[in-house]
Amino acid sequence: MNADDNMRRALNNLRKDVGRKYKETKNYEKWMFNLRQFYLRGQDDLFSRLHAEINREILFKLQEDYEYKKLKIEVQCNPFLVQDWQKYKSRILQIAQRIDRNLTSTTFPPTMVSSKNRSVDKITQKRIKIVKRLRKLTYGSKRISQCQIISIFDVLYVYLPICPSFLNPPDLEYSQEFFIRKLLPTLKKEAEQLCASRTAPPPYFLEMDGALKVGGLRDQLVFECRLCNELALNNIKKVRLHIKSVHELDDNLNNVLYATKVNCDAVLTNLFHAFFLHQH
Ligand SMILES: [Zn+2]
Ligand SMILES: [Zn+2]
Repeated sequence: MNADDNMRRALNNLRKDVGRKYKETKNYEKWMFNLRQFYLRGQDDLFSRLHAEINREILFKLQEDYEYKKLKIEVQCNPFLVQDWQKYKSRILQIAQRIDRNLTSTTFPPTMVSSKNRSVDKITQKRIKIVKRLRKLTYGSKRISQCQIISIFDVLYVYLPICPSFLNPPDLEYSQEFFIRKLLPTLKKEAEQLCASRTAPPPYFLEMDGALKVGGLRDQLVFECRLCNELALNNIKKVRLHIKSVHELDDNLNNVLYATKVNCDAVLTNLFHAFFLHQH
Protein backbone atom coordinates (compact mmCIF):
# COMPACT_ATOMS: atom_id res chain seq x y z
CA MET A 1 0.00 0.00 0.00
CA ASN A 2 1.48 3.32 -0.96
CA ALA A 3 0.99 6.80 0.40
CA ASP A 4 -1.47 7.66 -2.36
CA ASP A 5 -3.82 4.85 -1.33
CA ASN A 6 -3.72 6.03 2.26
CA MET A 7 -4.56 9.52 1.24
CA ARG A 8 -7.44 8.33 -0.94
CA ARG A 9 -8.90 6.25 1.88
CA ALA A 10 -8.63 9.12 4.32
CA LEU A 11 -10.39 11.42 1.87
CA ASN A 12 -13.15 8.86 1.30
CA ASN A 13 -13.75 8.52 5.02
CA LEU A 14 -13.88 12.24 5.39
CA ARG A 15 -16.42 12.48 2.57
CA LYS A 16 -18.63 9.86 4.22
CA ASP A 17 -18.36 11.65 7.53
CA VAL A 18 -19.40 14.93 6.02
CA GLY A 19 -22.34 13.26 4.29
CA ARG A 20 -23.50 11.73 7.57
CA LYS A 21 -23.15 14.99 9.46
CA TYR A 22 -25.05 16.79 6.73
CA LYS A 23 -27.93 14.34 7.01
CA GLU A 24 -27.97 14.65 10.79
CA THR A 25 -28.10 18.40 10.51
CA LYS A 26 -30.97 18.19 8.06
CA ASN A 27 -32.86 15.91 10.42
CA TYR A 28 -32.20 18.27 13.28
CA GLU A 29 -33.48 21.22 11.25
CA LYS A 30 -36.59 19.30 10.33
CA TRP A 31 -37.14 18.34 13.92
CA MET A 32 -36.72 21.96 15.06
CA PHE A 33 -39.06 23.10 12.32
CA ASN A 34 -41.75 20.65 13.38
CA LEU A 35 -41.33 21.63 17.00
CA ARG A 36 -41.73 25.30 16.08
CA GLN A 37 -44.85 24.56 14.00
CA PHE A 38 -46.32 22.59 16.86
CA TYR A 39 -45.56 25.45 19.22
CA LEU A 40 -47.12 28.06 16.89
CA ARG A 41 -50.26 25.97 16.49
CA GLY A 42 -50.52 25.82 20.27
CA GLN A 43 -50.22 29.63 20.42
CA ASP A 44 -52.88 30.13 17.77
CA ASP A 45 -55.13 27.90 19.76
CA LEU A 46 -54.58 29.90 22.97
CA PHE A 47 -55.22 33.16 21.15
CA SER A 48 -58.33 32.00 19.36
CA ARG A 49 -59.82 30.71 22.61
CA LEU A 50 -59.13 34.07 24.21
CA HIS A 51 -60.52 35.98 21.21
CA ALA A 52 -63.75 34.01 21.47
CA GLU A 53 -64.26 35.62 24.89
CA ILE A 54 -63.99 39.15 23.49
CA ASN A 55 -66.77 41.06 21.77
CA ARG A 56 -66.24 41.43 18.04
CA GLU A 57 -66.13 45.21 17.83
CA ILE A 58 -63.52 45.33 20.60
CA LEU A 59 -61.57 42.46 19.04
CA PHE A 60 -61.45 44.42 15.82
CA LYS A 61 -59.88 47.42 17.62
CA LEU A 62 -57.69 45.17 19.74
CA GLN A 63 -55.88 43.75 16.74
CA GLU A 64 -54.94 47.27 15.66
CA ASP A 65 -53.90 48.33 19.14
CA TYR A 66 -50.24 49.22 19.57
CA GLU A 67 -49.93 47.87 23.12
CA TYR A 68 -51.56 44.60 22.11
CA LYS A 69 -49.32 44.18 19.07
CA LYS A 70 -46.26 44.69 21.25
CA LEU A 71 -47.51 42.22 23.81
CA LYS A 72 -48.26 39.66 21.11
CA ILE A 73 -44.66 39.77 19.91
CA GLU A 74 -43.51 39.28 23.48
CA VAL A 75 -45.80 36.26 23.77
CA GLN A 76 -44.58 34.78 20.51
CA CYS A 77 -40.98 34.97 21.65
CA ASN A 78 -41.53 33.55 25.10
CA PRO A 79 -40.48 29.90 25.35
CA PHE A 80 -42.27 29.61 28.72
CA LEU A 81 -45.57 30.68 27.27
CA VAL A 82 -47.63 27.95 28.87
CA GLN A 83 -46.58 28.88 32.41
CA ASP A 84 -46.97 32.59 31.73
CA TRP A 85 -50.21 32.44 29.77
CA GLN A 86 -52.51 33.46 32.65
CA LYS A 87 -50.44 36.59 33.19
CA TYR A 88 -50.58 37.44 29.47
CA LYS A 89 -54.26 36.71 29.31
CA SER A 90 -55.10 39.15 32.07
CA ARG A 91 -52.95 41.83 30.43
CA ILE A 92 -54.75 41.32 27.12
CA LEU A 93 -58.13 41.50 28.82
CA GLN A 94 -57.05 44.75 30.48
CA ILE A 95 -56.25 46.22 27.06
CA ALA A 96 -59.64 45.04 25.82
CA GLN A 97 -61.29 46.79 28.77
CA ARG A 98 -59.50 50.01 27.99
CA ILE A 99 -60.68 49.81 24.37
CA ASP A 100 -64.21 49.11 25.55
CA ARG A 101 -64.12 52.18 27.82
CA ASN A 102 -62.89 54.36 24.94
CA LEU A 103 -65.52 53.01 22.56
CA THR A 104 -68.34 53.79 24.92
CA SER A 105 -67.08 57.04 26.43
CA THR A 106 -66.01 59.06 23.39
CA THR A 107 -69.08 60.76 22.17
CA PHE A 108 -67.71 63.51 20.05
CA PRO A 109 -70.13 66.20 18.95
CA PRO A 110 -68.84 67.51 15.61
CA THR A 111 -68.57 71.27 15.17
CA MET A 112 -71.57 72.50 13.18
CA VAL A 113 -70.76 74.96 10.44
CA SER A 114 -73.29 76.71 8.21
CA SER A 115 -72.87 75.96 4.49
CA LYS A 116 -71.09 79.21 3.69
CA ASN A 117 -69.01 79.12 6.89
CA ARG A 118 -70.74 82.35 7.89
CA SER A 119 -71.94 83.06 11.39
CA VAL A 120 -69.45 80.73 13.01
CA ASP A 121 -67.55 81.86 16.06
CA LYS A 122 -63.98 83.18 15.90
CA ILE A 123 -62.41 80.00 17.21
CA THR A 124 -64.18 77.80 14.67
CA GLN A 125 -63.11 80.17 11.91
CA LYS A 126 -59.50 79.70 12.96
CA ARG A 127 -59.88 75.94 13.14
CA ILE A 128 -61.31 75.93 9.64
CA LYS A 129 -58.27 77.90 8.47
CA ILE A 130 -55.96 75.40 10.13
CA VAL A 131 -57.67 72.43 8.48
CA LYS A 132 -57.65 74.13 5.08
CA ARG A 133 -53.96 74.94 5.34
CA LEU A 134 -53.20 71.44 6.51
CA ARG A 135 -55.05 69.90 3.59
CA LYS A 136 -52.77 71.64 1.10
CA LEU A 137 -49.65 70.51 2.93
CA THR A 138 -50.63 66.88 3.33
CA TYR A 139 -50.03 63.92 1.05
CA GLY A 140 -52.05 60.72 0.99
CA SER A 141 -50.96 57.45 -0.58
CA LYS A 142 -48.49 59.39 -2.72
CA ARG A 143 -46.96 62.83 -2.86
CA ILE A 144 -48.33 64.85 -5.74
CA SER A 145 -46.79 68.27 -5.21
CA GLN A 146 -43.61 69.69 -3.75
CA CYS A 147 -45.32 71.60 -0.99
CA GLN A 148 -46.82 68.48 0.58
CA ILE A 149 -44.77 68.03 3.72
CA ILE A 150 -46.87 65.90 6.06
CA SER A 151 -48.48 62.50 5.66
CA ILE A 152 -52.17 61.90 6.29
CA PHE A 153 -50.93 59.01 8.48
CA ASP A 154 -48.94 61.37 10.71
CA VAL A 155 -49.74 61.12 14.41
CA LEU A 156 -50.81 64.76 14.19
CA TYR A 157 -54.04 63.61 12.58
CA VAL A 158 -54.72 61.11 15.35
CA TYR A 159 -54.68 63.84 17.98
CA LEU A 160 -55.42 67.06 16.10
CA PRO A 161 -58.96 67.54 17.52
CA ILE A 162 -57.54 67.65 21.07
CA CYS A 163 -54.23 69.44 20.42
CA PRO A 164 -54.13 72.52 22.69
CA SER A 165 -53.25 74.80 19.76
CA PHE A 166 -56.21 73.48 17.79
CA LEU A 167 -58.63 73.80 20.70
CA ASN A 168 -57.36 77.31 21.39
CA PRO A 169 -55.86 78.52 18.13
CA PRO A 170 -53.42 81.42 18.51
CA ASP A 171 -54.63 84.89 17.66
CA LEU A 172 -52.46 85.60 14.64
CA GLU A 173 -52.64 85.93 10.90
CA TYR A 174 -52.40 82.44 9.40
CA SER A 175 -49.98 83.13 6.59
CA GLN A 176 -48.42 80.15 4.86
CA GLU A 177 -45.08 81.19 6.31
CA PHE A 178 -46.34 81.38 9.90
CA PHE A 179 -48.19 78.13 9.49
CA ILE A 180 -45.26 76.12 8.17
CA ARG A 181 -42.63 77.57 10.47
CA LYS A 182 -44.56 77.96 13.71
CA LEU A 183 -48.03 76.52 13.97
CA LEU A 184 -47.49 73.19 12.20
CA PRO A 185 -44.38 72.26 14.22
CA THR A 186 -46.19 73.25 17.41
CA LEU A 187 -49.23 71.14 16.55
CA LYS A 188 -46.99 68.20 15.68
CA LYS A 189 -45.14 68.47 18.95
CA GLU A 190 -48.41 68.61 20.88
CA ALA A 191 -49.72 65.53 19.09
CA GLU A 192 -46.51 63.63 19.81
CA GLN A 193 -46.71 64.58 23.48
CA LEU A 194 -50.34 63.42 23.70
CA CYS A 195 -49.30 60.17 22.06
CA ALA A 196 -46.30 59.68 24.36
CA SER A 197 -48.46 60.27 27.43
CA ARG A 198 -50.86 57.62 26.14
CA THR A 199 -53.80 59.94 26.10
CA ALA A 200 -56.82 58.14 24.64
CA PRO A 201 -57.16 59.52 21.11
CA PRO A 202 -60.47 60.99 19.94
CA PRO A 203 -62.33 59.18 17.14
CA TYR A 204 -59.87 58.81 14.29
CA PHE A 205 -61.10 59.46 10.76
CA LEU A 206 -58.93 56.80 9.08
CA GLU A 207 -60.53 54.05 11.15
CA MET A 208 -64.06 53.01 10.31
CA ASP A 209 -65.68 53.59 13.68
CA GLY A 210 -63.94 56.97 13.95
CA ALA A 211 -64.94 57.99 10.43
CA LEU A 212 -68.57 57.36 11.34
CA LYS A 213 -68.33 59.64 14.38
CA VAL A 214 -66.33 62.64 13.20
CA GLY A 215 -67.76 65.67 11.40
CA GLY A 216 -69.75 64.93 8.30
CA LEU A 217 -67.51 62.29 6.75
CA ARG A 218 -70.23 59.64 6.67
CA ASP A 219 -72.04 61.57 3.93
CA GLN A 220 -68.95 61.95 1.74
CA LEU A 221 -67.63 59.56 -0.91
CA VAL A 222 -64.78 58.21 1.21
CA PHE A 223 -65.75 54.61 1.96
CA GLU A 224 -65.02 51.44 0.03
CA CYS A 225 -65.88 47.77 0.27
CA ARG A 226 -63.22 45.60 1.86
CA LEU A 227 -64.62 42.44 0.33
CA CYS A 228 -64.55 43.29 -3.38
CA ASN A 229 -63.41 45.94 -5.83
CA GLU A 230 -66.80 46.37 -7.44
CA LEU A 231 -67.97 49.37 -5.51
CA ALA A 232 -66.64 52.85 -6.27
CA LEU A 233 -65.95 55.25 -3.41
CA ASN A 234 -69.23 55.96 -1.75
CA ASN A 235 -70.98 57.36 1.29
CA ILE A 236 -71.77 55.04 4.17
CA LYS A 237 -75.42 54.67 3.22
CA LYS A 238 -74.56 53.27 -0.23
CA VAL A 239 -71.84 51.01 1.18
CA ARG A 240 -74.33 49.61 3.68
CA LEU A 241 -76.75 48.81 0.87
CA HIS A 242 -73.91 47.22 -1.09
CA ILE A 243 -72.77 44.85 1.67
CA LYS A 244 -76.37 43.86 2.23
CA SER A 245 -77.34 43.25 -1.40
CA VAL A 246 -74.04 42.01 -2.88
CA HIS A 247 -72.40 40.24 0.06
CA GLU A 248 -75.64 39.31 1.80
CA LEU A 249 -74.43 40.58 5.15
CA ASP A 250 -76.84 41.99 7.64
CA ASP A 251 -75.91 45.70 7.81
CA ASN A 252 -75.38 45.93 11.58
CA LEU A 253 -72.52 48.02 12.93
CA ASN A 254 -70.13 45.07 13.37
CA ASN A 255 -70.55 44.03 9.76
CA VAL A 256 -70.15 47.58 8.53
CA LEU A 257 -66.92 47.92 10.53
CA TYR A 258 -65.72 44.60 9.18
CA ALA A 259 -66.65 44.97 5.51
CA THR A 260 -65.87 48.63 4.94
CA LYS A 261 -62.73 50.70 4.88
CA VAL A 262 -61.85 54.35 4.63
CA ASN A 263 -59.90 55.59 1.62
CA CYS A 264 -57.13 57.89 2.86
CA ASP A 265 -56.90 59.94 -0.35
CA ALA A 266 -60.63 60.53 -0.42
CA VAL A 267 -60.52 61.61 3.23
CA LEU A 268 -57.72 64.03 2.43
CA THR A 269 -59.85 65.59 -0.31
CA ASN A 270 -62.70 65.87 2.19
CA LEU A 271 -60.57 66.86 5.16
CA PHE A 272 -62.96 69.67 6.07
CA HIS A 273 -65.71 67.11 6.68
CA ALA A 274 -63.48 65.09 8.97
CA PHE A 275 -63.68 67.94 11.49
CA PHE A 276 -66.83 69.90 10.74
CA LEU A 277 -70.43 69.21 9.94
CA HIS A 278 -72.28 71.37 7.46
CA GLN A 279 -75.67 72.64 8.50
CA HIS A 280 -77.71 72.43 5.33
ZN1 LIG B 1 -68.19 44.53 -2.09
ZN1 LIG C 1 -71.57 69.95 3.31
